[in-house]
Amino acid sequence: MNKIISAVKKIESGNPDKDALLYLFSTNEDIDILFSAAYEVKERYVGKKVYLRGLIEFSNICKKNCYYCGIRRDNHKIKRYSMNKEEILESAIFAYKSGFGSIVLQSGERDDRDFINNLVEVIKEIKSITNNELGITLCVGEEKRDDYEKLFEAGAHRYLLRIETSNEDLYKKIHPEDHSFYNRVECIKMLKNIGYQTGTGVMIGLPFQTIDDLVSDIVFFVENDIDMIGMGPYIEHKDTPLFKYNSKFTLKERFELTLKMIAIMRILMKDINIASTTALQAIDPAGREKGILAGANVIMPNITPLKYREDYRLYENKPCINENSEDCKDCVLNRIKMIGESVALNSLGDPIHYYRRNKES
Ligand code: SAH
Ligand code: SF4
Repeated sequence: MNKIISAVKKIESGNPDKDALLYLFSTNEDIDILFSAAYEVKERYVGKKVYLRGLIEFSNICKKNCYYCGIRRDNHKIKRYSMNKEEILESAIFAYKSGFGSIVLQSGERDDRDFINNLVEVIKEIKSITNNELGITLCVGEEKRDDYEKLFEAGAHRYLLRIETSNEDLYKKIHPEDHSFYNRVECIKMLKNIGYQTGTGVMIGLPFQTIDDLVSDIVFFVENDIDMIGMGPYIEHKDTPLFKYNSKFTLKERFELTLKMIAIMRILMKDINIASTTALQAIDPAGREKGILAGANVIMPNITPLKYREDYRLYENKPCINENSEDCKDCVLNRIKMIGESVALNSLGDPIHYYRRNKES
């Protein structure tokens, strides 16, 4: 017990001490000490409340071919779709009227002019019909600096671009040769530099991934001084090239490791936003609540129109494929209440960290 207390104490100072982190990953004995410490930090720095972002998966068309992802370009088994402007606006209005302070616009990656121009238009309209009140997070991959700037000027103020893994060798193993680790890191820096509240994250339990890699991921988050984290367990998809390689970790272990990563990041970076992601719920029906109790403070209820959900399967067993947006909303509100937290309705829920880092720089 003393060992775990001293490991937690070591990281409380904000220093990602490697030995302490390795110890926390190596044991499950008295691990509640880690989770309670993280929950205390959560209460003190970001409150006993959860912010909601309505997730709109507006297109599954992707020019990339990541080896792990169910909507990769070469998966010809799925039907490709793009929601039209009216459908996106309708989903955004649903979020706004439901009191979700923000939405996340997520899609496969494209960089053609139509894609960027349509997205700029849609962002402007969402801002205008919601009285400039609905926050917009983008999660559409690697783009050119000019385009990131255009999207920012149109009104998107947050961006989520996962590094996927901070280990460049592992990155190369899970992506085709023309996908660049270097460019992904540059994009994260660019997004921060433009002024976005910037989030990143990793998948946990990838084939070939080790505990040392997770420690490096933590160091990456700290060194890049990011504002938000969205990370989750890797979950196999049978129609992807990575499917034939086994992870060292069972799904249960990936789930536990993700909770530990959340708790550690809460203790280390204190005032950032951390999402309790859908992939946690894919492994355990109460996964997102457990994520909150480990220190996360954001949940992204899926508000993609039902008819498209089936075709946005990044991984197997993706939950909420058959629930409509109203069901997802009620389910999330109830689940959060059940764990004694409240939902911060009608609130943007910006990461406090973003304002602090800008004041300090
Ligand atoms: N195209 C954009 C956003 C959509 S993908 C991008 O790649 O940034 C969003 C996230 O889904 C990815 O960052 C990845 O971390 C996650 N993802 C993809 N396949 C997954 C899988 N098999 N298991 C868990 N997460 C996965
Ligand atoms: Fe496309 Fe993103 Fe999936 Fe990679 S992870 S194939 S970029 S949708």
